[in-house]
Amino acid sequence: MTRPHSLAEVVERGLCSGCGACAAVAGPAAIRMAISPAGYLRPAVAPDLRAQDETAALAACPGANLTGLPEEPGATVPRDPVWGPLARLARGHAADPEVRFRSGSGGVITALCLALLDSGAAEAVLQVAADPAAPLRSRPTVSLDPEALLAAVGARYGPAAPLEGLEPLLASGRRFVFVGKPCDVSALRLLARRDPRIGQGLVMAISFLCGGVPSLEIARAVVGRYGLAEEQVAALRWRGHGCPGATRIESRDGAVFEQSYDETWGDALNQEIQFRCKVCPDAVGLAADLVCGDAWVTEDGYAHGDHPGWNAVLARSTAGRALLERSEAEGRIVLAPLGVAELGRMQPHHVERRGVVPARLLGLRLAGQPVPRTRGLGLLRAAWAGRRRLLANLLGTFRRARLGRNREASPRWE
Ligand SMILES: Cc1cc2nc3c(=O)[nH]c(=O)nc-3n(C[C@H](O)[C@H](O)[C@H](O)COP(=O)(O)OP(=O)(O)OC[C@H]3O[C@@H](n4cnc5c(N)ncnc54)[C@H](O)[C@@H]3O)c2cc1C
Ligand code: SF4
Ligand code: SF4
Repeated sequence: MTRPHSLAEVVERGLCSGCGACAAVAGPAAIRMAISPAGYLRPAVAPDLRAQDETAALAACPGANLTGLPEEPGATVPRDPVWGPLARLARGHAADPEVRFRSGSGGVITALCLALLDSGAAEAVLQVAADPAAPLRSRPTVSLDPEALLAAVGARYGPAAPLEGLEPLLASGRRFVFVGKPCDVSALRLLARRDPRIGQGLVMAISFLCGGVPSLEIARAVVGRYGLAEEQVAALRWRGHGCPGATRIESRDGAVFEQSYDETWGDALNQEIQFRCKVCPDAVGLAADLVCGDAWVTEDGYAHGDHPGWNAVLARSTAGRALLERSEAEGRIVLAPLGVAELGRMQPHHVERRGVVPARLLGLRLAGQPVPRTRGLGLLRAAWAGRRRLLANLLGTFRRARLGRNREASPRWE
């Protein structure tokens, strides 16, 4: 057994990332993203899903296939064994103090989206934002102006399926920026192979270093500490308004609760992420033009108190590098030097994970389970870097798979 052969198998074996690409391919009459019993966004599939739609969805599905950056003829971009292609590496932040303050880290993602909208290079940004009707949840949104972009700043630590919003955007014919997790970007690149509208419309794919997706149950537990049920919450901001900023909850009857980012991570977010993320072959955004992350340096990689908001910024493609340089010249962002060794000290979890994930995937294979087929992710070089921990990770995942601990139930079609 190698790749999964159906969407049901992707979900059942714990390989679904919840990106929404299958829903984009099949449309809402056949697939809708819904919260699963475990609290993740998974495809609810109609009984009459057409075989050709399932085949097309699987070709882009990050549970079955993952890709790196499309080839750039004539371009030579240096490649680091851990961090992948690096056309430019820098620290940076948005020059606009409001964007910097409100954003998740330094606001570079939002500042670059603003620059592309203002210049007319892009007409829309497909991203995710809080669902106003159910603010613990996220929904895809198409931002057309600075107000909408600013309403979507910050990290949404929970299920979010940006690609579910792709089809209406493509139908509009607008040139667009895509912001999503690394798995979302890989799915978009693979969708582009069958849908020429993506290649024609996509101006830039921007991602972030991704530690993984926690269940909606974690958000419910966070607000539950203050006696609130999900329906009683008017707003939840995980971080931002300072870096990382406090977690802030507003209830529908006007009460406000805050807890530190450390508290949120220690008590809630660190507890559980979906199995897919533990075996993720690309949490560093290898298919994106540009990737942002946090840029603080601590012993364990967590913030421990507020810092001035800075991003680590990885430009992977030459188009990504050109956008960074243009935005710096126009005074939209501020950049400072950053080396690979310092990036590793800022992001120790990603260095560790890049090295051990190949062994975990091998553990799954040896347990007779499917794994995604990967292209252009440099997994062999990454595995060499993590060779000392190969056996422990291989055996751990093998056991977990044999005991069925990666198994997941799909949401029902209703
Ligand atoms: C699930 C998750 C895991 C993360 N893991 C790491 C990590 O391991 N290391 C690290 O340094 N930082 C991590 N972050 C934080 C992220 O890296 C920072 O948000 C990043 O530095 C971008 O900062 P910014 O200030 O430029 O972004 P902003 O300007 O605040 O923009 C953030 C953008 O991300 C989009 N977005 C937010 N949440 C999601 C989501 N769940 N799915 C898709 N798009 C989303 C928003 O729509 C917005 O466009 C994570 C964030 C999330 C949501
Ligand atoms: S990973 Fe994405 S495309 Fe694959 S089943 Fe899950 S939501 Fe659908
Ligand atoms: S860790 Fe990987 S699979 Fe999980 S959300 Fe991030 S990019 Fe997607």
